[in-house]
Amino acid sequence: MTSNHSCKANATTISLVRGDITRQEVDAIVNAANSGLMGGGGVDGAIHRAGGPDILKECKEIVAVQGKCPAGQAVITGGGKLSAKYVIHAVGPIWRGGSSNEEEKLASAYRECLKLAVQYEAKTVAFPSISTGAYGFPTDKASQIAISEAREFCAGNNNLEEIRFVLFDERTYDFFKSALDQ
Ligand code: ADP
Repeated sequence: MTSNHSCKANATTISLVRGDITRQEVDAIVNAANSGLMGGGGVDGAIHRAGGPDILKECKEIVAVQGKCPAGQAVITGGGKLSAKYVIHAVGPIWRGGSSNEEEKLASAYRECLKLAVQYEAKTVAFPSISTGAYGFPTDKASQIAISEAREFCAGNNNLEEIRFVLFDERTYDFFKSALDQ
């Protein structure tokens, strides 16, 4: 795993690594979930496989109480067998060409995760690139939204030590690097 880009935003380090989010030793990892919180492919499947059945059980309990989680929102569960104490399940938007408020929904998903992380006193939080896999959000736009929401959050909040973006492939990593360098 390489970890070679980071920058300071107020009290928080924003860092980029290439790798697998399920292997991160952080307080909270973010899942790119779907609104039913039922698990799925991509990073969602990887997190449930690595974290074991307790995570899905908690997700089902949440849906039973509050219904499906709309795009732009997030919920939190324990981390099951993961090293992370928490999994924050963020629902990103499905890309529909850009005219369905996708950009604001993606920004909101990042913000809600950061708020939950602080609320649960996590100091370190790792994000995948939400919505840029099966949900088809263009990675150039998505990476800029992710970095700018992280920066904006840190400008108004100094509780987090690190926000880490864990990018699975080189192409996605390069987009995030460009966004961070801007
Ligand atoms: P979405 O449905 O929100 O688009 P996906 O899981 O399909 O979510 O993809 C989101 C991003 O997560 C993609 O860049 C994908 O390559 C990446 N990804 C898949 N597995 C992992 C993993 N284990 N760790 C980190 N990122 C992952």
